[in-house]
Amino acid sequence: MHQIEIDHLNKHYGGFHALKDINIAIEQGSFVALVGPSGCGKSTLLRTLAGLEKTSSGDVRIAGQSVIGKPPRERDVAMVFQSYALYPHMDVEHNMNYSMRLNRRPKEEIAERTRTAAETLGLGSLLDRLPKALSGGQRQRVAMGRAIVRNPKVFLFDEPLSNLDAALRVHMRSEIRKLHERLNATSVYVTHDQVEAMTMADHVVVMRAGVVEQQGSPLDLYDRPANRFVAGFIGSPAMNFLPAAAASNGALVLDNDGTQQIGLNRGVAPGRQLWIGMRPEHLSLKPGANDMALDATVTGIESTGSMTFVVLEVASQPVVLAHSGRPETRNGDQVRLHISMDNLHLFDRETQLAV
Ligand code: ATP
Repeated sequence: MHQIEIDHLNKHYGGFHALKDINIAIEQGSFVALVGPSGCGKSTLLRTLAGLEKTSSGDVRIAGQSVIGKPPRERDVAMVFQSYALYPHMDVEHNMNYSMRLNRRPKEEIAERTRTAAETLGLGSLLDRLPKALSGGQRQRVAMGRAIVRNPKVFLFDEPLSNLDAALRVHMRSEIRKLHERLNATSVYVTHDQVEAMTMADHVVVMRAGVVEQQGSPLDLYDRPANRFVAGFIGSPAMNFLPAAAASNGALVLDNDGTQQIGLNRGVAPGRQLWIGMRPEHLSLKPGANDMALDATVTGIESTGSMTFVVLEVASQPVVLAHSGRPETRNGDQVRLHISMDNLHLFDRETQLAV
């Protein structure tokens, strides 16, 4: 059964079409990430689920019931904001149970649910602190506690970790994911960080300019990106793209250097203009099985100790190679760049779609 169904949803702000025919079905218990560059409409979509934005057309159903026109409090969803939206003059306990007090729930129920949420989040010893006396991570937990005490069907997260430093962010990712599992919740999580989306979610929805470009499991998106945008957006460092055209012998000839050819293991019509997509982690300076090779010049090397990023020039285009370990090459080296045919991605240059 689908916990949330978004059906041909459109949203206009005056003349601006912010969400364009969005269709997403979210199963009970799943963790869904909405990801995309700034302004793509992911917060608008989340706010539409929460009931904080009106829709222009289409339907949103939660647990089988249309929620169009319903105010936020009747939707059985709880939202965790990027800013945490804590009341500065209330202590942790009162911040957490504010909505229950507002709804005049029985005192015992308020005390019990607050205690359980505080225990779940490790906030038991901080209940009488004001937000200003908490660290960023603790404030983030209080914001989550406020959502948990309501025991909602659905959790909505709007970039909840963006105010935390890198190490804490990584820690809180797994905390949120564990919490999601423990509560058997359905979660929708907005982020512009594709690594966050890939590591946390069961289902990733990639958006651009109000459109869902592709959705699927993290590995589906990584292995089979539907178009050049998704291919470039998912994966870090980003996929390399080289412009090329199909020759009459079935090979691909690189633009800017007609001497560099790639034999193909799939049919492409002669003359068709393509992007060759190569993930940095699939490139190697050593020959491997079923691979092809290109001439390249090393133009830069960055090493973090555990990882090495080699910047190369291939047919006047920059290409990045990533491998674990130490540099095996030097700036200015002429090298052969290898990649397995199975790891080559091709995209039509006109439609940008995967070939
Ligand atoms: P970010 O990561 O920067 O928060 P986003 O993907 O969440 O971006 P939204 O905040 O959903 O993007 O905005 C989508 C588009 O809708 C943007 O172009 C934005 O300028 C526009 N927009 C958002 N709210 C309004 C509004 N109230 N009135 C007019 N346009 C709006």
